[in-house]
Amino acid sequence: MKYVEEYRDPAQVQKLLGEIRAAATRRWTLMEICGGQTHAIMRHGLDELLGEAVELVHGPGCPVCVTPLEMIDQALAIAARPGVIFASYGDMLRVPGSGKDLLTVRAEGGDVRVVYSPLDAVKLAQANPDRQVVFFAIGFETTGPANAMAVVQAKALGLNNFSMLVSHVCVPPAIEAILSSPVSRVQAFLTAGHVSAVMGYWEYPPLVEQYHVPMVVTGFEPVDLLRGIRAAVRQLEAGRAETENAYARAVTLDGNLPAQAVLRRVFEACDRQWRGIGLIPMSGWRLTPEFAAYDAGQRFAVTGIITRESTVCIAGQILQGLKKPHDCPLFANQCTPATPLGATMVSSEGACAAYYRYRRFVPQTAPENVHV
Ligand code: SF4
Repeated sequence: MKYVEEYRDPAQVQKLLGEIRAAATRRWTLMEICGGQTHAIMRHGLDELLGEAVELVHGPGCPVCVTPLEMIDQALAIAARPGVIFASYGDMLRVPGSGKDLLTVRAEGGDVRVVYSPLDAVKLAQANPDRQVVFFAIGFETTGPANAMAVVQAKALGLNNFSMLVSHVCVPPAIEAILSSPVSRVQAFLTAGHVSAVMGYWEYPPLVEQYHVPMVVTGFEPVDLLRGIRAAVRQLEAGRAETENAYARAVTLDGNLPAQAVLRRVFEACDRQWRGIGLIPMSGWRLTPEFAAYDAGQRFAVTGIITRESTVCIAGQILQGLKKPHDCPLFANQCTPATPLGATMVSSEGACAAYYRYRRFVPQTAPENVHV
């Protein structure tokens, strides 16, 4: 398949691995931001192939994982209301709230439906004028344009039975939160290529300058990922910290300007809670005043939510690169994809699910500060 096979070419992979090993005089700690990248790294065994040259830690770029428990509980309460059709991407249905999940709400009689696009939810609203249709709009900058277009379309159609429960989050403030932590281990970031395809990468240079940490825009196939890792290692070895684009086939500095224009019209920045991490200032989006009438949070004022987080799950530390899934005592015994106790196991993009699926049950051992 064109644009896929050539980026999985074994000869290219071996060449890049050799160049990374040759460049690394010590073991560097890199964070890939996106859960899709985490799964690609595990699926292709890149973490093991990199061995002692690079340690990869896994960032908070899994939208299901970082959606706060309070927001999930709010979704559960709205979905259980009579007269509501609650539309969501499928991977949110099994995410446990404080007590139950959306699948349980559906089993108890709630009208919870899986959609593949927010525009499907708009169609549901058109087809069911006597019902209130609520779409659960979670995600990073990548899903933002489609969600924004759905609200624009609902307004253009004059639909007053459509609304969105918005829990959007943004990558740059999360990177800054990780970098400003005194316990951060991250020496360079592989930033998510699909986010930059929308937003460009002009937001990163100020962070690079402030924290002196390389940031490399990186894609999702093995050759893409290794090119990003090679660029980061070469910068670190040279003592440089720059913003670099290792995914030029999909990303430009400015990004998708028409998409950014619709995002600016529909969403504005706001403080946002991240599950397991806490409040990150100005790290999310909410609807602008022009579209505030479509805010399900206001339309269905839900009160009395008391959240109950697991006291043993260490997903928050995993999402900040401080721990790995196999550091959790529950991993692969009490907590599995069939019996998930935290969002990083239940989400198909979560790091715990990746470690379970690709059988990373024990830590890789590699001495620090060695020549490889
Ligand atoms: S294995 Fe389960 S309980 Fe442990 S950190 Fe991952 S999701 Fe949480």
